[in-house]
Amino acid sequence: MADKQFPFLKFHRALPREVPVQIRVLDYREIYGEFADNDAGDQAARCIDCGNPYCSWGCPLHNRIPQWLKLVRDGRIEDAAALMHETNPLPEICGRICPQDRLCEGDCTLETGFEAVTIGAIERWATDEALRRGWRPPVSAEKTGKRVAIVGAGPAGLSVADRLARAGVFPEVFDRYTEIGGLLTYGIPPFKLDKSIVRTRRDVLEEMGVRFTLNTEIGRDVAFSTLLQDYDAVFVGTGAYRAVDAKLPGQESAGVHSALPFLIANAKRILGDASVAVPNLIGKRVVVLGGGDTAMDCVRTAVRMDAERVVCVYRRDEQNMPGSRREVKNARDEGVDFLFNRQPLAILRDENGVTGVRVAQTRLVAMRNGRAHPEILAGSEEDIAADAVITSFGFLASPPHWCDEFGIERDATSKLIVGAAGRLPLQTSHPKVFAGGDAVRGADLVVRAVYDGREAAKSILQMIGVAGVVSTA
Ligand code: FAD
Ligand code: SF4
Repeated sequence: MADKQFPFLKFHRALPREVPVQIRVLDYREIYGEFADNDAGDQAARCIDCGNPYCSWGCPLHNRIPQWLKLVRDGRIEDAAALMHETNPLPEICGRICPQDRLCEGDCTLETGFEAVTIGAIERWATDEALRRGWRPPVSAEKTGKRVAIVGAGPAGLSVADRLARAGVFPEVFDRYTEIGGLLTYGIPPFKLDKSIVRTRRDVLEEMGVRFTLNTEIGRDVAFSTLLQDYDAVFVGTGAYRAVDAKLPGQESAGVHSALPFLIANAKRILGDASVAVPNLIGKRVVVLGGGDTAMDCVRTAVRMDAERVVCVYRRDEQNMPGSRREVKNARDEGVDFLFNRQPLAILRDENGVTGVRVAQTRLVAMRNGRAHPEILAGSEEDIAADAVITSFGFLASPPHWCDEFGIERDATSKLIVGAAGRLPLQTSHPKVFAGGDAVRGADLVVRAVYDGREAAKSILQMIGVAGVVSTA
């Protein structure tokens, strides 16, 4: 009886089938398989529709989660996908890589005591399935004749393009790379997000009328002034690519790699570019310094590159890691060792390159900027042997040089300033230019870049005088 009233008692939380560890570390394929049809419905039925959807508030896009869970439960997959797309232009991508434990699922009412509904996995499955069945996002039949240039084909740029195309505006997206996606393609490894998923989304956006002009760097191949002249508005979503420099003595040694160039080179090689040089980690002892999602991607990539041992060194404890719990678990399952409460002090080297890392133990003391601050314990230094070291201390916004030239203001850390008094949300100090994603926030999350793109599109539509069909979420 209780089972009938409370499906969450009958169906336990279950993610789609996971590829066994021994197999998944052999290549870069996504580690989660598919839900069978009924499994997704059963998992969706676990939602108790609690009446106060904390999950929606935990989601930066305020997705209408209980409503689309009900549609999936009832087998109305295309309707569920349509509702998902009203607030989220990239649901299959967010469903795969959002840190749900810190967002929607962390706020699910069932999380305390009964385990959260598998919101991300259902969002992913329903979108994949609807697209497979031929469902496509609706596009306005009426064309406005307006044109908007978008610099950067990362999630922020793609999100703007989707909303503008729906409203009958022509979006042209420029990117310096040969594929769309930004960090979705060139940063996040395929075991988290298969590149065919981004490719499918490209097809969907092109069908909607989005034009991609790739291999084109604005400021080098096309002048920014040309965009200002030829388009009704411009969106800048150029990301955050400046690595935080920990200034460790010895960090310039052979065998020390910065996280993003390491991941980008490997991504390009997997995509078939044989011209890029990728470090050879076979049989090596690899130490990764840092505790965020990028560090987790590096340790798991190093495992797949046949390193002998991979150790993640982080200066706080496990509870205070910035990365997703799920990714830490996946890394651990794949054989990565973690050394917490260790502050790196120096890279050790000999004439051939890196030989190790000197670290000191830490303890967490008073909060600073909302986070526990690690304090070094005197006399606790130790050396960790290493043949290769990957540094992953975070990234800062890296606005293109032409921003200054055109009066697009930035703050002391180079983040573009948007939405100042008298401006529309996401509008920069240049009235025709809007910006969002990591270029505005510094290194952040895909879902927040998608949010910025969606909101910037609303502002652009308002500025160019197009009513739009964009949901206000
Ligand atoms: P980007 O994705 O960086 O895209 C910017 C684009 O602009 C790039 O394609 C770039 O080529 C292009 N560009 C820049 N300058 C120019 C120019 N002058 N002309 C033309 N094109 C230009 N977030 C999550 O939510 N979950 C995760 O699991 C996750 N894992 C991550 C793993 C790694 C390794 C990294 C580095 C980040 C990860 N993130 C993750 C963060 C997430 O990827 C970013 O927050 C998100 O991609 C930012 O989107 P964006 O569109 O602002 O910028
Ligand atoms: Fe959760 Fe991310 Fe989907 Fe929002 S977009 S519901 S946070 S998985």
